[in-house]
Amino acid sequence: MIKKKVCMLGAFSVGKTCLVKRFIQSIFSEKYQTTIGVKIDKKSITLNGTEIDLILWDLPGEDDFQSIKPSYLQGASGYLLVIDGTRKSTLETGYDISERVRQLVGDIPYILVINKSDLVSDWEITEAIEKELSEKEITIFKTSAKTGENVEEAFLSLADKLLQSES
Ligand code: GDP
Ligand code: MG
Repeated sequence: MIKKKVCMLGAFSVGKTCLVKRFIQSIFSEKYQTTIGVKIDKKSITLNGTEIDLILWDLPGEDDFQSIKPSYLQGASGYLLVIDGTRKSTLETGYDISERVRQLVGDIPYILVINKSDLVSDWEITEAIEKELSEKEITIFKTSAKTGENVEEAFLSLADKLLQSES
């Protein structure tokens, strides 16, 4: 059994916790690590015949830049960098966070998730910005934790990257 720690990262209120809930649905084991202020969920998936336990780490409450401690990231195999399509500022915050993560744990796989696609008419992230991002060879998924659109796809795509980085 392969186990992979995945961190949820991004500005406050972009939808990290909702994405985990949506992905886990009702089949999950949940553990509150109150001492270190981290919520850890587990989801077992099978990808190309390989069974993987994704161990999802999420910071409850305020989870700005400062609260991302090295201990939160320690041992992470990858991360979901979540931004809110309706707030362009969350892209900048996301970049800063990603930069900090890479300084702390190095070049681990990640996926960029632009969340709240159900509100696409209110999006500040334009197609031009998206194009720019994909030219940087960042894997992007447009998701909605509300409708479920692309949520599973995003997590599975990251899991696939994690498997590939193993071999
Ligand atoms: P976190 O701080 O990143 O963990 O964000 P939360 O998961 O707590 O979500 C923040 C707010 O955004 C909540 O009010 C959610 O209901 C809302 N939200 C999260 N995902 C979506 C989404 O895909 N669509 C819409 N419309 N609202 C969302
Ligand atoms: Mg949260």
